Amino acid sequence: MRGIYVCISWLLTLVVSYWLLGGSLERLIEGYDRSDASILPGLTTLGALLISLILTLWWARGPEDSVGPEKRSRRRRFLLGAIAAFGGILASALSALMRLGDWYAISGRHIFLVRPPYQADVAREEWSGSRVARYRRLGRTEALVSDISLGSGSGTGGRQTVEVLRQAIERGVNYFDTAPDYSGANSEYRLGEAIKGSRDEIFLASKFCRPTGHLGPGHSVEEYMEAVPSSLKRLQTDRVDLIHIHSCNSVERLLDENAHEAFDRLKQQGKARFLGVSTHTPNLVEVANAAIDSDRFDVMMLAYHHGAWPQLGQVIQRAASSDIGVVAMKTLRGAKHRGLLWSRDERDSYTQAAFKWVLSDPNISCLVISLWEEAQLDEFLYASGRTLSDSDRVLLGRYRDLIAGKHCRPHCGACLQSCPEELQIDDILRYRMYFEDYGAQREATRLYAQLGKKADACTGCSAPCSNFCPEGIRIAERLAESHILLTHILLTHILLTRG
Ligand code: SF4
Ligand code: SF4
Repeated sequence: MRGIYVCISWLLTLVVSYWLLGGSLERLIEGYDRSDASILPGLTTLGALLISLILTLWWARGPEDSVGPEKRSRRRRFLLGAIAAFGGILASALSALMRLGDWYAISGRHIFLVRPPYQADVAREEWSGSRVARYRRLGRTEALVSDISLGSGSGTGGRQTVEVLRQAIERGVNYFDTAPDYSGANSEYRLGEAIKGSRDEIFLASKFCRPTGHLGPGHSVEEYMEAVPSSLKRLQTDRVDLIHIHSCNSVERLLDENAHEAFDRLKQQGKARFLGVSTHTPNLVEVANAAIDSDRFDVMMLAYHHGAWPQLGQVIQRAASSDIGVVAMKTLRGAKHRGLLWSRDERDSYTQAAFKWVLSDPNISCLVISLWEEAQLDEFLYASGRTLSDSDRVLLGRYRDLIAGKHCRPHCGACLQSCPEELQIDDILRYRMYFEDYGAQREATRLYAQLGKKADACTGCSAPCSNFCPEGIRIAERLAESHILLTHILLTHILLTRG
């Protein structure tokens, strides 16, 4: 009879562990609503576990007055009880973890496969020690900047080191782009450390923003102005050469009088030399044309890569004809080339071909690329000053086929109006790209957590967005996956905070 009680008890414990503890963990790491997190499922499971253990002990002890062979049987029973208790604890833990199978299939798999992206599978010897081979004029600033320059955006995931930045300077890179909100201000701190002693050889670009986020209409002149001395302190310098209106998504923000008043005063004080705008917004054409027409901007930083829409080339040409320096970013068209295995046999790597395509446009002053390893410097700088070849074009064509239906084109936005939930579809897919392709999981989950509306809204939606994507992306499906990928914060954090 005792044995039956024990079996029933363990069965109930497994059920409680699977439904209560497993369900609670699943909700927690999927981030549905952490404010609802409760210790009750954990305590209930623990209680069930303890009851089962006590019952197992009670069964294992058997009748008190046993002698002879009965006593031996009691020992066997005790051993069996210990095995049952151990097995029960293990099975309870496993049943709770079984609920996390989806998390592993989508997020966990990616975390364990993290490796530096943007890197050719096979490094060629001649890339070693590559240096900048060409400098170009940055529009009306008259600065001559390295055609391949350094960014330090979210894609680095905070992995850029002072050492690699110093190496870049030694190899001739002289344009550096940073922002207070890259890696929670760490990008500015590291760059400040790296440029000590080389400040006068560097063209330094940062953004009008704070480590906690962007500035825009509604902020006072003083608030804009305060952002820059804070950057200067982190960068250990008395001036930035260029200050961008950061990730500008509207003409209202672009032309915010307070921002312009703040810039004029900072310029007078010698703290900022030139004004720029960075944008990869869906309103890019409108924002860029307004920037050109205003004649207030010296530099524009735009997302630009092979296969970019034709209108963008015209915008860049307009900017250049107004002598505005154009800096290209997001040049790798998603950096999904890990699957492009045949690039091993090509003369140059995918990254080099993509850079050469961008730089084949004479209106581009330079491109910025986020990197954090010496091998990346070797590979990337090898493309400096080189021209696009036929084999590069073939490689880029193969890449286009590889990413069909997966890459959300920057500044497209064709689907945004179709979403009744007003989800920032393009931003969500960009954060997914940081997570999956750039290996910047922590940064990607941080950015996603800041969004007001998340892609769990896609669950149960009739998906009116489905026919809007010219790139053939199955938006509802990709977004639902992105939500799982980007909200498994707990385990992601535990695993990633090791780095
Ligand atoms: S499926 Fe998602 S993205 Fe598409 S319309 Fe619905 S909520 Fe918006
Ligand atoms: S998902 Fe498609 S339609 Fe929407 S912004 Fe991206 S590329 Fe454009």
